[in-house]
Amino acid sequence: MERTYIDEAGARLGETVTLAGWVSRTRDLKNIRFVVLRDMTGEIQVVVKQGQPDLFGLSLGREDVISVTGHAVESKVANAGLEFVAESIEIINRSEQPLPVDILENVKSDLETRLNWRFLDFRAPTTNAIFRVQNRLLTAFRDWLSGRGYMEFQPPCVIGSASEGGADLFAIPYFEKMAYLAQSPQLYKQMCAMSFEKVFTVTPIWRAEKFNTPTHLNEVRQMDIEQAFADDETVMAVLEQLLAHMLTAVKEGCGDQLRLLGRELTVPDLPLRRVTYTEAIELLQGAGEGIVWGDDFTKSQERLLTELVGEEAFFLKDWPGAQKAFYAMPYSRESEKDARYLEETYGSVEMGDKIVRAFDCLYSGIEISSGTQRIHLPELLKERIRYKGLNPENFEYYIGAFRYGAPPHAGWSIGMERLTMTVTGMQNIRECCMFPRDRDRLVP
Ligand code: ATP
Ligand code: MN
Repeated sequence: MERTYIDEAGARLGETVTLAGWVSRTRDLKNIRFVVLRDMTGEIQVVVKQGQPDLFGLSLGREDVISVTGHAVESKVANAGLEFVAESIEIINRSEQPLPVDILENVKSDLETRLNWRFLDFRAPTTNAIFRVQNRLLTAFRDWLSGRGYMEFQPPCVIGSASEGGADLFAIPYFEKMAYLAQSPQLYKQMCAMSFEKVFTVTPIWRAEKFNTPTHLNEVRQMDIEQAFADDETVMAVLEQLLAHMLTAVKEGCGDQLRLLGRELTVPDLPLRRVTYTEAIELLQGAGEGIVWGDDFTKSQERLLTELVGEEAFFLKDWPGAQKAFYAMPYSRESEKDARYLEETYGSVEMGDKIVRAFDCLYSGIEISSGTQRIHLPELLKERIRYKGLNPENFEYYIGAFRYGAPPHAGWSIGMERLTMTVTGMQNIRECCMFPRDRDRLVP
């Protein structure tokens, strides 16, 4: 059997071809029977006439896998302007009935049930659309970076010690020792950037955060870059251009999916606004939020801040050192460039003692990415590790990486599921992960 895809049928009007796929639904009238057949390219209405008793009486259930030999004809009534007249139907494999989830989405099954039956849920149009969009985001990410000289690399996922300082790690037995699931590819991307200069990765990471929230998973895919001879602003510029590129790619390549999801995407004008952490605190305080300088923002404060700033996408920069990892580069009063920036932005250089070159990117009211300029100076790293109340001796493996010619470097990380969530307009991140892992879910 040479198989023709449904989206090719229109180009072969009248010709006998064989389609294959799933029975989405059937409708039996007195003299005519309609079978909606679906494959990866779309759906087509198959028509069976009464004069074909074997086909007319054939029992067909939803999601049965069949092949249909026949020919396409133009049709005024069918959606695509096309129908397929069946000459023969072969049942390839039957589906059990009834289906445990409503993939026609007449009555949308609850998320738990859908996740339990994820392989079937993928056939529901909106679920399917989410992962088509995710795939477009991923390919656009890879294409754009590869086209600009960034090299893709694969970090290890099992590591010997904590990269971010210890909390929220999953420990696993590893022969005679304990090992950990990586919380981030941090050290590895830095090590790669110090030789290959511009690198990126798409990699799973694990966070043993005990709470179950609509925006957190315990297993996340991160889309990261790291770049040598770069500061925070260099990689923020990369992030905003790449974000605009990915949104454009989805807008252009996933029109049907966005329509189905009821999501209207606007590609933000660049450059994105830079809001300092200090300004953000003032904005929130002005709106009556009980937040003080030094606090992190809650998810609802991130949403409120987005309203106050009035931009769908913007950067929050110059975070307090205490809120970010020890490897975030502090401002230096000794640097003329830093002093000028601090004067211009804060009216004094003193602020430079409290803030670091770290940023978040907020999109659609939620953090989708964080990044920093990293410390490439071993002595400064030690000082910052001590400042965080940690012992530099435990980080020697990390600090050592910067002793043999480490250029200044910076990078960021986008959460793939977070980004998909904001782009598709979903309220729960689990919708945007094929097989989510959270506090309660390890199956399927
Ligand atoms: P948040 O403050 O939103 O919990 P974070 O600041 O702890 O996230 P980072 O370490 O900055 O996270 O990770 C980079 C990106 O990875 C985040 O901006 C987010 O998009 C994504 N991410 C991090 N942790 C999670 C998680 N538990 N679930 C889903 N996405 C996550
Ligand atoms: Mn973050």
